[in-house]
Amino acid sequence: MEISIKGIRRKQCGIIESMAKLLHIYTIDNPEEESFLRRISKDVPKQEIEGEEFQVFLDDLIYTAQNIITEEGYTASGLSAIQVGRDVNVFCILKENSSVFEIMVNPVIDIISPTLIIDREGCLSIPKTEGQVARFEKIKVTYLDRNGKKQRAVFKDLEAREIQHEHDHTKGVLFTDKLVD
Ligand SMILES: [Zn+2]
Repeated sequence: MEISIKGIRRKQCGIIESMAKLLHIYTIDNPEEESFLRRISKDVPKQEIEGEEFQVFLDDLIYTAQNIITEEGYTASGLSAIQVGRDVNVFCILKENSSVFEIMVNPVIDIISPTLIIDREGCLSIPKTEGQVARFEKIKVTYLDRNGKKQRAVFKDLEAREIQHEHDHTKGVLFTDKLVD
């Protein structure tokens, strides 16, 4: 059994440094992991969000998204819980023009513009593969933030694409299911 130290430690300069760890990314190259990636994720009960165990998991999810680099040198712009072996309806996405990842719990997407944009995508769970995918240009997302507080916001362009890609993961859908010529 692996023992890990959890919690936070305060450095002398006053900055709180997380003890978060890098999580293993499930890929379709492993048949068992591929079948896990096809699961439909479960909603997280609101009371569970504030719990220490879940907060540590969210720190680890963000830490992994921030620090992962693929063999081809790509970094992550989003990461879903299912991709690190937890079938709960949670993902993080990179906020545009920043290095901050935002957590979305139990997100619901409303399409507010029927315009579709085709652009290139890749996925940490599908190594060495890229493809063109059509996504809605503008969406409204209702979700719980990492404190369990209800949020509703409009996202467009790249952020909207990232959210739709991660939201598909929570439904067991991979971008390679949606490739356009
Ligand atoms: Zn992905």
